[in-house]
Amino acid sequence: MNPTECPCCDNGVISPWRVNATNEIILVCDECDALWEDGDDRTEPSVTTIDQYLNLRGLPLLWSGLVPAL
Ligand SMILES: [Zn+2]
Repeated sequence: MNPTECPCCDNGVISPWRVNATNEIILVCDECDALWEDGDDRTEPSVTTIDQYLNLRGLPLLWSGLVPAL
């Protein structure tokens, strides 16, 4: 299995991002917004989305708060 392939939508590409506000590394699917935290098992469907993740932390739902972590 391709490690950048999304198990949720089978279409998207998972990319690593760094959250500016918290410095956490997250992995987000560009297609369905599924989110994995660093260390999560990415062969399993994600339990959250980028929207829920940012909401939970009281952060704005903006991609400008994220930096590509490649
Ligand atoms: Zn996806």
